[in-house]
Amino acid sequence: MTTSRRILIVGAGIAGLTLANALRHENVDLRLVDIDPRPVGSGIGLSGNALRALETHGLLDPVLEGSSLSMTLHMCEPDGTTLLYTERLQPEGQAFPDNVVLSRHVLADILTRSLSESGIGIDVGITIAEVNQDSDSAVVTFTNGETERFDVVVGADGFNSLTRRKVFGEEFRAGPLGQAGYRWLTPGISSITHGRMYLGANGLKIGLYPLPDDQIYAFITKPTGRITRDGDLLVRSEMEDALAQFTFPEAARIRADLPQGRDIHFGPFSTMLVPSPWYRGRVVLIGDAAHVMPPHASSGAAMAIEDAHVLAAELTARSSVEEALERYMGRRFLRVQRALRYSVRQCLAENAAGGDFEPPPVVDPGEAKEYWAYLREPI
Ligand SMILES: Cc1cc2nc3c(=O)[nH]c(=O)nc-3n(C[C@H](O)[C@H](O)[C@H](O)COP(=O)(O)OP(=O)(O)OC[C@H]3O[C@@H](n4cnc5c(N)ncnc54)[C@H](O)[C@@H]3O)c2cc1C
Repeated sequence: MTTSRRILIVGAGIAGLTLANALRHENVDLRLVDIDPRPVGSGIGLSGNALRALETHGLLDPVLEGSSLSMTLHMCEPDGTTLLYTERLQPEGQAFPDNVVLSRHVLADILTRSLSESGIGIDVGITIAEVNQDSDSAVVTFTNGETERFDVVVGADGFNSLTRRKVFGEEFRAGPLGQAGYRWLTPGISSITHGRMYLGANGLKIGLYPLPDDQIYAFITKPTGRITRDGDLLVRSEMEDALAQFTFPEAARIRADLPQGRDIHFGPFSTMLVPSPWYRGRVVLIGDAAHVMPPHASSGAAMAIEDAHVLAAELTARSSVEEALERYMGRRFLRVQRALRYSVRQCLAENAAGGDFEPPPVVDPGEAKEYWAYLREPI
């Protein structure tokens, strides 16, 4: 590729920031816009496949510095008795861990800082108003009235993607899965040295994952039939009620340390997979704009990072945009579909447990290990 390609990335979340980083040293002219770039949520697990992609783009070291290891699957009864404990094998020859957990804000800071060090900024507060395509470009009018011509437009604008709605139509929308989650950060507790989940009655599940800087990423998931939502105070009182069911030694402390409502992120889980191809002309989707999965396999962001990595590789290796997008699609669809199906199956199995997490627990450790091994396959 000799002439510099003009690429617009709509959305500076995990997918958009990773793509911009993957292209930051390439012969491309990048523009990155975001309507309101604030990471939503508290913590995030990143599996080895995501770390491998980040390593390629010089981002692994800061991510590892900001992360805690998360190499076990540990499920407990409400009183803390172990139901299932299995270790994630460290792959031979892989110099970094196969799974870590970190704060979403730390990840966003790392991805944004390396861009600004390369002189790439984010145009905040604007988005696309109109996209018109001819045979060799996409002409975008922004909400601030500017109009620009791009060789490629990348929709990295999340599960409710405006790019997708404008260019692909309104038919692809994430549908509810009958479960929701509350996420927050709580002060560290010395006895919580590795990630654990506690399975309670009525389909309740609590997760506690230690982070660096003496913090814990905490979450509660719950079938949505039992959730009411009427302001943050109600969310907090629902969480207090939920936590009251649990008698593991640290439960009372977690309950006492619950933050104010605004620091608790609540959201129903949903799913969607845009059928192949994820492009129309020169407009292409990555991350949650193309596929939304529940958090049960910790794979949504990892797949978004892989999308960005593969799209950057194809766009820089091929002189034809059409060929690059076709190859991107060929490398992504089945892999993402597998991650999505695995996550959805686990979510639905929890709902179907109908609130009775009797042993054996709903996660099959053999299936989990098979899935982790699949993630390590080359993409
Ligand atoms: C409870 C929960 C826990 C999760 N835990 C994990 C986990 O542990 N591991 C994992 O791999 N995944 C996890 N995920 C999934 C993960 O969060 C998503 O898959 C990931 O954030 C997708 O990244 P993205 O960049 O595609 O979208 P987003 O992170 O949603 O980013 C989209 C960006 O686009 C911007 N935007 C939106 N609309 C516009 C617009 N019109 N114009 C311009 N910009 C716009 C937004 O401001 C945002 O910055 C979890 C999800 C949930 C709900």
